[in-house]
Amino acid sequence: MSLTVLKPDTRSCSESALVLIKPDGMHKGIVGEVIGAFSAGGLKLIGLKLVKVSGALARAHYRHLATKKFFKEIVSYLMGDLHGKNPVVAMVYTGKDAVAACRRIAGSTNPEEADPKSVRGKFGRVTTKGVFENLVHVSSDTKEARREITLWFKKSELLA
Ligand code: UDP
Ligand code: MG
Repeated sequence: MSLTVLKPDTRSCSESALVLIKPDGMHKGIVGEVIGAFSAGGLKLIGLKLVKVSGALARAHYRHLATKKFFKEIVSYLMGDLHGKNPVVAMVYTGKDAVAACRRIAGSTNPEEADPKSVRGKFGRVTTKGVFENLVHVSSDTKEARREITLWFKKSELLA
């Protein structure tokens, strides 16, 4: 009789999240502080690059928000049109509950409602035109994270 040894699947313990520092991050000169805030969360950084965002990439990224009245504005925002044509810093963090951890570090969507110690609470603002300049994007859930990571990164650009 042979015994089957069940090995724990350690991959199920970890997940990945896409984090983007939107163009206002570079425009304000706070990329270092923002990366520092995410790095302090104890997650592993497995991908990092600068991206000059095209209209096609921005629209694909926000495709689930295409019917929203602010769709055109967030596409322009991601392309850097509101912030000196600056690029996006695209990152992938991996680790236990990476999505929830990164969203906590980012804070609420509206910077005025975000925890003052979060990235959006500390550095974000709502402009007089009502635009949420909230500095970062974080995947909303693990399924969306997989779609977004594939959209932004080639496999060869990520650490195994
Ligand atoms: N947004 C906005 N007004 C809103 C909701 C969202 O301008 O009422 C923008 C904001 O830049 C936000 C992005 O659209 O980060 C995507 O919205 P989502 O609901 O996915 O928020 P997030 O996941 O970024 O917190
Ligand atoms: Mg979202």
